[in-house]
Amino acid sequence: MADGRARTRDERAKRIAEFIAPLRVEPGSKVNLSRDFDPAHKAGVRNKKEGEELLRGGVLLLADHQRKLAAEGSHGVLLCLQALDAGGKDGTIRHVMSGVNPQGVHVANFKVPSAEELGHDYLWRYACRLPRRGEIGIFNRSHYEEVLVVRVHPELLARQRLPGKAKGKKAFWRRRYREINDWERYLTDNGFRVVKLFLNLSKEEQRVRFLKRIDVPERNWKFSAADARERSSWDAYQAAFSDMLSATSTPWAPWYVVPADRKWFARICAAAVLAHTLIDIDPRYPDIGDKARHELELEKRQLEDEAPTGAAADPWVAAAEGRGRHGRGRRAR
Ligand code: ATP
Ligand code: MG
Repeated sequence: MADGRARTRDERAKRIAEFIAPLRVEPGSKVNLSRDFDPAHKAGVRNKKEGEELLRGGVLLLADHQRKLAAEGSHGVLLCLQALDAGGKDGTIRHVMSGVNPQGVHVANFKVPSAEELGHDYLWRYACRLPRRGEIGIFNRSHYEEVLVVRVHPELLARQRLPGKAKGKKAFWRRRYREINDWERYLTDNGFRVVKLFLNLSKEEQRVRFLKRIDVPERNWKFSAADARERSSWDAYQAAFSDMLSATSTPWAPWYVVPADRKWFARICAAAVLAHTLIDIDPRYPDIGDKARHELELEKRQLEDEAPTGAAADPWVAAAEGRGRHGRGRRAR
């Protein structure tokens, strides 16, 4: 029985690993986003209905592992989400984390830096929002904005008031990639896994989603002229994404490029990558040890002695015995 359960667990872990393997950017490889990754890809899943079932399974698995992660309290997980506007970050967070205890998850949104944030080194504001041990932290946009929007718009780099002359040159971005890789290595070495998802949207699908935000009044608030302006820098962003993926997909924190033209498929991929990480961490409920267990037994006896007349000494044991007699899941009458 226990063997069977372990086998099912291993098979599920293997299936998830195989499913996400094509999404991973091999460390050291040179990425050309439009050549290497198809935003409309949906291999491995037949249709949306099958996708929804898979997502439900993934959400349950995440909830179970997150409870153990919190109970064990030695690892933390940082999920970084990057995408172009309308890429589906918000919906992905909502769906993938739908089964997880909200106490164990924190979402940090990163916008244009404030004056106070600009007064510090560029990683400072991200470090301030890192998850604790036992938590899953989600960065909705992340430190990668520092090599994306800041690269595409040189005036943002000027606002950072960095010393030195070589700002914005190729060597400058190389250095930034190295600093980010080192920071993530430091986090990983200290028990914090860094999971990086890039939601890869096609230009046409972005156009359609923008139009929906304009056409449907309830969605108007989601559209801003700034989004449309960023769209005009599409090619510069694609180049910045390609460079970033090539330079910062590392053995300790690889990038996953998630096809994002179908929202339901993107959500399955995101759940699968996160599940893969949690399965790999393999968090366990702590074993309290013999001494504490003995104390629990004494407490149990005391509580059983307090049972009112007619009540079972221990209703949990009585119910379990009832289930044993009448078959799994059936209550004794
Ligand atoms: P939504 O999907 O709801 O539009 P969003 O993440 O795009 O969410 P917005 O408030 O629309 O949120 O945009 C945040 C903006 O902040 C983005 O344009 C992003 O590029 C910008 N931003 C984030 N980090 C930085 C940074 N370090 N420097 C400059 N701009 C940044
Ligand atoms: Mg936006």
